[in-house]
Amino acid sequence: MPAHFNPFQIAQQQLDEAAARLELAPALHAFLREPMQEVAFTLPVMMDDGSYEVFQGFRIQYNTARGPAKGGIRFHADETVDTVRALAAWMTWKTSLMDLPLGGGKGGVVCDPRSLSPSEIERLSRGYMRKIAHLVGPEEDVPAPDVYTNPQIMAWMLDEYEAITGRHQPGVITGKPVHLFGSQGRSDATARGGMYTVREAAQALGINFEGAAVAIQGYGNAGQYAHKLGCELLGLKTVAISDSRGGIYNPHGIDYAAASAWKQRTGSLAGFKDADALTNAELLELPVAILFPAALEAVITAENAPRIQARVIAELANGPTTPEADQILYDKGVFVIPDFLCNAGGVTVSYFEQVQNAYNFYWPLAEVHARLDAIMTKAFREVHEMAQARQVHNRLAAYLVAVARVAEAVVTRGWVR
Ligand code: NAD
Repeated sequence: MPAHFNPFQIAQQQLDEAAARLELAPALHAFLREPMQEVAFTLPVMMDDGSYEVFQGFRIQYNTARGPAKGGIRFHADETVDTVRALAAWMTWKTSLMDLPLGGGKGGVVCDPRSLSPSEIERLSRGYMRKIAHLVGPEEDVPAPDVYTNPQIMAWMLDEYEAITGRHQPGVITGKPVHLFGSQGRSDATARGGMYTVREAAQALGINFEGAAVAIQGYGNAGQYAHKLGCELLGLKTVAISDSRGGIYNPHGIDYAAASAWKQRTGSLAGFKDADALTNAELLELPVAILFPAALEAVITAENAPRIQARVIAELANGPTTPEADQILYDKGVFVIPDFLCNAGGVTVSYFEQVQNAYNFYWPLAEVHARLDAIMTKAFREVHEMAQARQVHNRLAAYLVAVARVAEAVVTRGWVR
């Protein structure tokens, strides 16, 4: 992300445009522009050599008018309070757009987990949960994984929470391993939900994407499963993939099994045979039908948007496109499936996980997929209809649907009139 971009200012700018179009009352608009509650704390952790390091942690509950706060925990060296605020705001609009009975939140720790050992990450994760245990719970705030956090970390955090409260409460956190009260289908849910929205976009645009070339930026949970499911569900041909160290390109296609095994074995994509090296910046500008940003924020800007050649941008990452780039892409006729629609499969199956935890009764995989498809498809159609009715780009349309629902809940509760 370029240094001068502040994700929270971008999130507020996006909200402002929706608030103006929805003609929200000034106090209501002001209320929705800020998080309802946020905590910041120091997090001392013992390293394996007995020394201590002090990390900075956050948990932000952006809005709970429609239900408990919901949102992931990110471990990243570039994390800032404004990144967490932005991600918490986007979670609020995401759960609303999916019409889930949840609000929005987010958490994070400023750290580079790649430089920490597994036992150091465990102590950091347990320490983080000790700091937020009084704020979270199935009926208050339910964290989940995000960048550089995973099911094992969710399991440690669950265990710590249950040790503190003395009660079995698996619904306090989602994205857990399936054998420890997770949901079937959670691991690939973000990419799968994204593929359902791409399928709907193809239908709306009247384009057959079978065999079409695609590029994926980011090769973690969202990006790797996009590679796999793009091929399995839609017959897409992935020609370029990347991670934090750079990317690889082969116009004839990159095999998922071989690339993911290489990444698993070597820790990066560099050196993968049968492909040329390219930079993350070059990947975004390739002549592909569909571009999947699946890494970090603000990678598509006013600077590179004019050179983007993709017909569809399916935003698996949160906040990859700046508002200025949005307008350029819209004017160019690029069909953007905005982040809080495209990547909402993750939180939707996290919600299913919460429901299953509450009932202590678990669904088969086919049921998860069918319910996810129904929710993603309905949300896509609502956004598409709004975009056409108001003649606005898809992101603004998604905001109009989502913000109106949150605003209605805030007003009906009597918080702001
Ligand atoms: P992850 O930790 O599994 O993977 C992140 C990937 O991004 C890694 O491959 C890493 O190498 C790459 N990366 C990091 N910095 C990069 C950089 N500067 N340039 C290019 N690549 C870089 O994380 P994830 O869960 O796949 O999350 C990726 C994006 O998807 C984030 O924006 C996240 O908020 C969003 N998202 C994830 C989920 C989910 O369920 N995992 C749900 C919704 C949205």
